[in-house]
Amino acid sequence: MKISLPTAQSSVDVTKLLCIGRNYAKHAAEMKSDVPDEPLVFLKPPSALVRDGGTVVLPAASQDVHHEVELVAVIGTGGKNIPEAEALSHIAGYAVGLDMTARDLQREAKQGGRPWSVAKGFDTFAPLGSIAPASSIADPQDLTIRLTVNGDERQAATTRDMIFPVAELIAYCSRIFTLMPGDLLYTGTPEGVGPVQAGDQLEATVTGVPPLRVTVERAAS
Ligand code: MG
Repeated sequence: MKISLPTAQSSVDVTKLLCIGRNYAKHAAEMKSDVPDEPLVFLKPPSALVRDGGTVVLPAASQDVHHEVELVAVIGTGGKNIPEAEALSHIAGYAVGLDMTARDLQREAKQGGRPWSVAKGFDTFAPLGSIAPASSIADPQDLTIRLTVNGDERQAATTRDMIFPVAELIAYCSRIFTLMPGDLLYTGTPEGVGPVQAGDQLEATVTGVPPLRVTVERAAS
């Protein structure tokens, strides 16, 4: 999928979605998981992206798909081994995203010592809102993040509570992967995750960025 960067004239292909697990202590606790001592990184394929106004399709393989609302940083200037002090200057903009997760498949993967790719990677499992320019966000570590399901608030938190802040995540990820313009960094979900059902209307917001609204449907089998 192509996205338009606030800092560029032309659109770019998204080459990867970098996702962070357990980046809020209360979410790690609700998952009965330890707080990591370094970032827990996994990837989603760009084919999982869905835009604002789109549909999340529940796959037949899962009976327990959860919402995870997250701040997303959009890379504008790529790089390798980016110093933490320079990391925020590599960001073109911010958006709100959802890291949809087949919790039942993830639980089985964890128990079997297998990767999370299937639990996290289905088509439509990465809704992404429109991108606000980075210049409009004074401090990515001082934003309110919220999710409602059919108008009921399910998640509400502040990005102040991230264990690893955005700059540290970019520096860390760039030591592993060459970052490319258009790469998306899903920075982890706060507490309050839970299941979604066919027919649900999800609305995700982060201070200062356009809201994200998606509808949930069950895959035709
Ligand atoms: Mg997540």
